[in-house]
Amino acid sequence: MASSFCTKSALSFSTKHENISTSFLIRDFRVRFPKSRSFSSPARLELNATKLRVSASSATPVMDQPPSETTSTAPTIVEVDLGNRSYPIYIGSGLLNQPDLLQRHVHGKKVLVVTNTTIAPLYLDKTIRALTDGNSNVTVESVILPDGEKYKNMETLMKVFDKAIETRMDRRCTFVALGGGVIGDMCGYAAAAYLRGVNFIQIPTTVMAQVDSSVGGKTGINHPLGKNMIGAFYQPQCVLIDTDTLNTLPDRELASGLAEVIKYGLIRDADFFEWQEKNLPALLARDPSAFAYAIKRSCENKAEVVSQDEKESGLRATLNLGHTFGHAIETGFGYGQWLHGEAVAAGTVMAVDMSYRLGWIEDSLVKRVHRILKQAKLPTAPPETMTVEMFKSVMAVDKKVADGLLRLILLKGPLGSCVFTGDYDRKALDETLRAFCKS
Ligand code: NAD
Repeated sequence: MASSFCTKSALSFSTKHENISTSFLIRDFRVRFPKSRSFSSPARLELNATKLRVSASSATPVMDQPPSETTSTAPTIVEVDLGNRSYPIYIGSGLLNQPDLLQRHVHGKKVLVVTNTTIAPLYLDKTIRALTDGNSNVTVESVILPDGEKYKNMETLMKVFDKAIETRMDRRCTFVALGGGVIGDMCGYAAAAYLRGVNFIQIPTTVMAQVDSSVGGKTGINHPLGKNMIGAFYQPQCVLIDTDTLNTLPDRELASGLAEVIKYGLIRDADFFEWQEKNLPALLARDPSAFAYAIKRSCENKAEVVSQDEKESGLRATLNLGHTFGHAIETGFGYGQWLHGEAVAAGTVMAVDMSYRLGWIEDSLVKRVHRILKQAKLPTAPPETMTVEMFKSVMAVDKKVADGLLRLILLKGPLGSCVFTGDYDRKALDETLRAFCKS
């Protein structure tokens, strides 16, 4: 087993921060960025029509304005720049009450909304109204799937195809994913495969989906032997994030999504991590302004990465900090036992532990990671039933294994810097696994 963890190659990505408040340098291009705002004061800030454009070609993302103190309901727009597959992410409160935002991205006359038994009673009618208000040309069908990660499989996917064929969805139809990451991933994959590809729109309703899974076009389902092993890169027409949907999200799901928010800070955005350290109480208290900012900044980070490396040849893999260990927990422990973000949180602690054992980061960073995850009420160690062998056998089939070599995302250098590498001492991995597993 150990031989599969030999050293071979390294790709390094780091973020250099200038010591000034209004800008920082990401690799070789400059980003204008507002000084981190603290929302821990009672000040209530509403997002304005802030627009960010991320362009791989011009490499100059510019955020025109910081969050302002107006009450405009105009969405913040973050654009994912992928040439002729570019699309906007609309972020804001009450966006499901603005039919034009969705309707401008529906091309044909038929729409299939894919959702689940939990979300349908909450938001399906509202979504159908948003698709049809003032637009009698469109027929909307829906398919309501069972809820849960354990249903993210081929059998459930077939229910989407059954409905699409029964209701005669044609090549110009649009699939709409209404739900969390499970629905988004499954609906996106169904859209990629149905009639060899139809339009789709993401309406994410969990923090996890709003800050991560709905953006970037990774779609797919699980196989009993590995998570997300079957899928496609397939970009949506738009992502519509109505932050009001978070009002009904259970606390545990909210915390799970924060694991991915914390990830962006650790791998590439030190200012954002520092903002999170100050504002975690506001996020846990569901302060809408704090959430709007965290979602926007997360989407900006993800959009920047995806614009540069859509199909994960290097840079995009860094978004998987903690996920290799985390996927092993999800697969080994059984899908649905722990939430995705909970597994990622424990996995992040393990990746950070290994980075420290390799001498790549300071002890103070290890402590900060523990502190913020604990504060977010996320696990900082894997379940007690996980063994070293369980980790190793699942990690051996991880998608980041290339030529038998397991590459990992590890922190290296100051806060906000990481590497995606197979070039590490295998002893450090073994030590980390032994430190976190009883057997
Ligand atoms: P989820 O989709 O299972 O949603 C969590 C729970 O919250 C479900 O029970 C859901 O029905 C419920 N729910 C959703 N929105 C709600 C709302 N507004 N109010 C009340 N309940 C609501 O889980 P998730 O955490 O959103 O997503 C996890 C999935 O995302 C995993 O399958 C993971 O692999 C995937 N993921 C994909 C990517 C990607 O890039 N494609 C990235 C990260 C995670």
